[in-house]
Amino acid sequence: MIAASVVSRSARRIALPTQGLTSTPTANLSRSLFLSARRRAAVAPVAPAAATPSEISAGATAGAQGLASVQNNGGSSGSGGNGGGKRKAGFFTKVKRGIYGTTVLSLATFAYYVHEANNPPDQLPQDPSKKTIVVLGSGWAATSMLEHIDTTNYNVIVISPADYFLFTPLLPSVTVGTINGRSIAQPTRQLTRYKAREVQVLEAEATKVDAAKKTVTFEDKSEIHGALGTVTIPYDYLVYSVGSAPQTFGIEGVAKHGCFLKELGDAEKIRNRLMDCVESACITGQSEEEVDRLLHTVVVGGGPTGVEFAAELRDFVKDDLAKWYPEIANRVKVTLVEGLPNILPMFSKKLIEYTEHEFEQQEITLLTKHMLRDLDETHVTVKKPDGQDMKIPYGVFVMAAGNGQRPITRDLMGQFPSVQTERRGLSVDEHMRLKGAEDVIFALGDCTATPYAATAQSAAQQGKWLGKRFNQMARVDDLKAQLEGAQKNGQTDQVKTLERMVEKAERIKPFHYSHSGALAYIGHDKAIADLPFMNGGVSVGGVATYLAWRGVYFTVSD
Ligand SMILES: Cc1cc2nc3c(=O)[nH]c(=O)nc-3n(C[C@H](O)[C@H](O)[C@H](O)COP(=O)(O)OP(=O)(O)OC[C@H]3O[C@@H](n4cnc5c(N)ncnc54)[C@H](O)[C@@H]3O)c2cc1C
Repeated sequence: MIAASVVSRSARRIALPTQGLTSTPTANLSRSLFLSARRRAAVAPVAPAAATPSEISAGATAGAQGLASVQNNGGSSGSGGNGGGKRKAGFFTKVKRGIYGTTVLSLATFAYYVHEANNPPDQLPQDPSKKTIVVLGSGWAATSMLEHIDTTNYNVIVISPADYFLFTPLLPSVTVGTINGRSIAQPTRQLTRYKAREVQVLEAEATKVDAAKKTVTFEDKSEIHGALGTVTIPYDYLVYSVGSAPQTFGIEGVAKHGCFLKELGDAEKIRNRLMDCVESACITGQSEEEVDRLLHTVVVGGGPTGVEFAAELRDFVKDDLAKWYPEIANRVKVTLVEGLPNILPMFSKKLIEYTEHEFEQQEITLLTKHMLRDLDETHVTVKKPDGQDMKIPYGVFVMAAGNGQRPITRDLMGQFPSVQTERRGLSVDEHMRLKGAEDVIFALGDCTATPYAATAQSAAQQGKWLGKRFNQMARVDDLKAQLEGAQKNGQTDQVKTLERMVEKAERIKPFHYSHSGALAYIGHDKAIADLPFMNGGVSVGGVATYLAWRGVYFTVSD
């Protein structure tokens, strides 16, 4: 659903050559040949129903002869071929019927889905006798969990400041307007409204988890809210999946003067700033020095997010600014700052070199082994490899240098000081249970410190696994209730069977991450991919990889 509504620059570009092709004389000729063959087949006797390809061509020839005889007879009724009696449907008639049939079926399916989308079914009401699961967040982990949990077994309450799921891999494209932000955001209710039991979705920010009391306090911090202040609710289980906060390295100027690239609002802010800088640079009388500053975008962070943003920006300059702002387009500069010796450390050496070469071609300046030191309104200060500071003037500054922890997460960690000692995030066991509150709190995704990379891929897998785990836990509870009944009634045989079933159901497998590869867009309609293959991996890069990359995202809808 998300993918279908995405309108991308690349999609437009891919569409154009196809249109060009269909209007070539060759294409027109073959189309008219096809049409004339169809017309002929419609009036002529043709091959029998189960014809072989050679029979079909023979039938077509006979058909052509039949057409000739129709014309020779001055349009009197056809007498050639099998003549008179009940005529069998010809090949092209069948094709035509097939097309009609498929079209009708597709329209009916489409109408069914539209009807379903507009008429969600009745749901079971929340049931006080069921356990309550409170889910914090509506991102990759939470949404995947919600998708897989059977809500007949629980009351589920979702609390998130965003009432939608955001498809983050396409967020860099929103910064340059290639994709409309709303088309990569799916309302959470579009998912929960189709669950068997009502799910409460509350657009609010959780401000405190009290693990001892098993409560969550939240607040509606949106622009418009009622008179209600903070609210505290109890939970039986808590799914903690609030993601991470952008990293600032404790540099105050970053939050004050820079942009992040995590939320939808961040991407829109970057876009506005970018265009503001471009417009200001165009104002008559602006000094040369100021024009160069305004048109310089500095990105900090050489991971996939920083790289993809720099690449998208360069494409935007080449494809759009050059057209609409020719007077300044060639003065736009993009600089990518990275503290490590190279960008994209999670990719193979071959792909790193390939990307660095591509960036050189695209005139993106790479400053590796440079550390961010400070940021004021107009200048970034970085520490060079020789230890000296360098001041770089900028118009737009984007911080894409990894994850920090949200205040609520730090507070939760503080409630278990002896076991929550990881700086990267919440410590969990192999069942994604929070260390210190194993029985009731599950933590997923970017807010955790696990051996898995902080990616959508692993967050979604964790969510799916937990949804299924909840279903299995409900089954255990159900079997235990049956066992208790059987024991009370003295049903010895049934007790034994149920005991075995409980034991089997209680054997819940730990979470296992399955890596399906890493992909990144590097500009110029090229992407890179490190994919697992047999016991090793393959590294690919280029335009074909880019098409596959887009293909993956265009087809992702679950
Ligand atoms: C620009 C960009 C591109 C990316 N591209 C890729 C990619 O191509 N492939 C890939 O695998 N990964 C990618 N990632 C990483 C991926 O998006 C994250 O790893 C993933 O979002 C983590 O999922 P999560 O559920 O832990 O957190 P998120 O998806 O960030 O969800 C966190 C949720 O918690 C909510 N929340 C925040 N604070 C609170 C609070 N106090 N109370 C309640 N709710 C709260 C948020 O609103 C959000 O709904 C990208 C990330 C970014 C930023």
